[in-house]
Amino acid sequence: MKTCNRGALAERVAVVGGGIVGVAHAWREAAAGAEVTLFERSRRAEGASVRNFGMVWPIGQPAERREAALRSRALWDEFVCETRVWSRPSGSLHLATRGDELAVLEEFAAAGPELGYDCQMLSAAACRQRCPAASERVLGGLSSPTEMGVDPREAIATAPAWLAERHGVRIEMGVAVVEVEPPSLVTGDGRRWQFDRVTICSGADYATLYPDLFAEHGLSRCKLQMMRTAPQAGGWRIGPMVASGLTLRHYENFAICPSLEALRQRIGDESPELDRHGIHVMAAQNGLGEVVLGDSHEYGESVTPFDSEEITRLMLRELKRLIDLPDWELAARWHGVYAVQPRPGVQFTFSPVDGVTVAVATGGCGMTMSFGLADKMVHSRRGALAGAGGLS
Ligand SMILES: Cc1cc2nc3c(=O)[nH]c(=O)nc-3n(C[C@H](O)[C@H](O)[C@H](O)COP(=O)(O)OP(=O)(O)OC[C@H]3O[C@@H](n4cnc5c(N)ncnc54)[C@H](O)[C@@H]3O)c2cc1C
Repeated sequence: MKTCNRGALAERVAVVGGGIVGVAHAWREAAAGAEVTLFERSRRAEGASVRNFGMVWPIGQPAERREAALRSRALWDEFVCETRVWSRPSGSLHLATRGDELAVLEEFAAAGPELGYDCQMLSAAACRQRCPAASERVLGGLSSPTEMGVDPREAIATAPAWLAERHGVRIEMGVAVVEVEPPSLVTGDGRRWQFDRVTICSGADYATLYPDLFAEHGLSRCKLQMMRTAPQAGGWRIGPMVASGLTLRHYENFAICPSLEALRQRIGDESPELDRHGIHVMAAQNGLGEVVLGDSHEYGESVTPFDSEEITRLMLRELKRLIDLPDWELAARWHGVYAVQPRPGVQFTFSPVDGVTVAVATGGCGMTMSFGLADKMVHSRRGALAGAGGLS
């Protein structure tokens, strides 16, 4: 019998959205004993969660989120072990091609271990040994073992059946939730459902549920352009997932480095076009041998549906300065959109009415953080209920 707060019955929880955030909440709620139903409006989730690099990237998180990031990383180990989806604990390598990039990496390597980061500097030769793609321009790099690559298309496509079979979650794919009025919820096909609680993980969709509140909270969007190569021939592997000097402007962990500001300034002066399009470059190879490349950042309430060739050209220019791939032929280009909150932080949550929680805007780190964040949320709630004598 599942543990619950309704006498002998399990609490009935609806999770809206089958992206990584919805999957995380459905999983952690079910693991904690709830009777969960997951609603996804598409036959297969098609949002940001299938359009990303698949980088589980704890190193990018600031020290105060390190613990949650590592908890998430541990849950990824469980997820890949249970689902058997492809994954590679390849670690990460930040490559420096300029002296000021190297300086930031060295500062981070010096301060990081005391803050709980497991990382070290590598010489240019050691970088090329670990990553055969590292270009001749590479001066050195920062290596970390904690990062893991997954194939987001495979992971998100596999999750619903796994949640159903292994965790007893009822899966409703192709079913949009169009109204939430606790304790009931209405789906697009006119059915009315009863739940004790609803968790809304609707990503960047602000129009369907509580549109006024989304507008009031000032959430906006970010569009990212991406591409991937055809599978590299002959089983060639890139080694660790690769980030660039440009990336140092992007992830919050590097904010502790005194020379980051000078690096930002230099890039802004030298290549304003990169700042204009929010370009920093990264590369990750999946199990099919394809190298996923990106990305750019365009912020706004609405973003253009049209992709820019200039952005593609700039990303490829920067990538080719950093790495040499045996085959640069592109097999696909696409863009993804994620929710952006108005304040700093990794997730935006609010409760429009009792029994309903909205959990969105994991920004550029939803793959990395969602499992840990959902786990924390479910445990804090259960801890509070147990304290109040509400759990049997
Ligand atoms: C190009 C790109 C690269 C990225 N790279 C990385 C990375 O490498 N590592 C990392 O950690 N993060 C990365 N991110 C960020 C990460 O992908 C996002 O933070 C995360 O996917 C957001 O997940 P989500 O579940 O909130 O949104 P989504 O994946 O968009 O899922 C929301 C789902 O809710 C469904 N939905 C919405 N409304 C309803 C409704 N009313 N009823 C039913 N269903 C509904 C939608 O159909 C959708 O499937 C990247 C993002 C992008 C765009």
